[in-house]
Amino acid sequence: MSAERAPSGSPRAPRGTRDVLWPESARWEAFVATFATLVESAGYGLVQTPVIEDAAVFRRGIGEASDVVGKEMYEFTDRDGTMLALRPEGTASVVRAYLQNRPVLPWKAWYVTPMFRHERPQAGRYRQHHQVGIEGLGAADADLDVEVIWLADRFFRSLGLGRYALAVNSMGDWQCRPAYVALLAEFLRAHADELCEDHAGRIEANPMRVLDCKRPECRAVTEGVPRLVEHLCEDCAAHFARVRAGLDALGVEATLDHRLVRGFDYYTRTTFEFSSQAIEAAQNGIGGGGRYDGLAEAMGGPATPGVGFGIGIERVLLACDAEGCFAVEPPPLDAYVIDVVDGTVARDLSVALRDAGLRVDRGFEQRSLKAQLKVADRSGARVALIVGPAEAAAGTVMVRPLRGGGEQRAVPNGEVADVVRTMRGASS
Ligand SMILES: [Zn+2]
Ligand SMILES: [Zn+2]
Repeated sequence: MSAERAPSGSPRAPRGTRDVLWPESARWEAFVATFATLVESAGYGLVQTPVIEDAAVFRRGIGEASDVVGKEMYEFTDRDGTMLALRPEGTASVVRAYLQNRPVLPWKAWYVTPMFRHERPQAGRYRQHHQVGIEGLGAADADLDVEVIWLADRFFRSLGLGRYALAVNSMGDWQCRPAYVALLAEFLRAHADELCEDHAGRIEANPMRVLDCKRPECRAVTEGVPRLVEHLCEDCAAHFARVRAGLDALGVEATLDHRLVRGFDYYTRTTFEFSSQAIEAAQNGIGGGGRYDGLAEAMGGPATPGVGFGIGIERVLLACDAEGCFAVEPPPLDAYVIDVVDGTVARDLSVALRDAGLRVDRGFEQRSLKAQLKVADRSGARVALIVGPAEAAAGTVMVRPLRGGGEQRAVPNGEVADVVRTMRGASS
């Protein structure tokens, strides 16, 4: 992987990736903190898994036939010959971590992580994007599905989002899905010449994939396909009814979308997707997930039911921009210390003030008062604390307000923290 070069010759971030700098990154911090507070209130604990995994984790979990594994996954041979992959999605890694560490079930975990997919870069789609998500393992109870969906909905609301929709469906299970897939294949075969060019010849590989196709030709055909919800076995039907009743009871509005299927083999029963109505339709998926009762077994472990979701940070922030919500103003610095003598007072005073709980930056290299004042002003600090030869000799600091007016005055070193704190209280 060679980094692209700027005209000047210095390296640039690889195609399809981007840097997030302060103060934009303050919004990311607030996003993750809001998410963590919410899901931890429901018993989910942070799990950190490696960004690199044995490629088999995703090959077995997601399935070779999926685009994510077949075309988009970053894979490489490690120095010892192991095939490794960069994480393309969240669930398989968490289930691998469960199988390896065997925490007590039910196990509820949340994560925040970069994801890697070698897609064609376009607006709102990155080769490295970021997600927060949760996984609940060890309970087949439909009420866990309800809890998971409710948490996603509550999170979006807490960011201030309102213009989004929730679609739900059931994908059945190994009891009822095979018969439905046969029925679907039969229907699609009868309409083979009406399908889009990608699907005309590819029904047999995975007929469910055609349901997910967004091209108008396929959409027209799938409008009339047999609906999986009408072919569920008794257990799956009861499970889905309980999920829908639970969402109703909690006031989470959900619409049945019989074409909502997920591209990963391990999904069973409940599947759901949130889409923003405020951003461009092709890129409006802001989060989704579902139940994956077959995944742990597919990865060679004991049968372990599970349900979870992933939420794309970049997409959700786009939706927030479009709705004009979740603008995050990082708190300003309380003070900026300018020492034009030898830097000793700046060194000691800035540490004393930080120890006293204040947000403090300082100038370096004893540049001129004018130059340092410029930097202090740009820093957004409320006050400048200026130390010249007279102040250094007298053991005082000149406190000069930079925001909201006021006279500058000399304050003994020992009282600076109190004075700055009082000024912060007055201006906020
Ligand atoms: Zn198609
Ligand atoms: Zn079933």
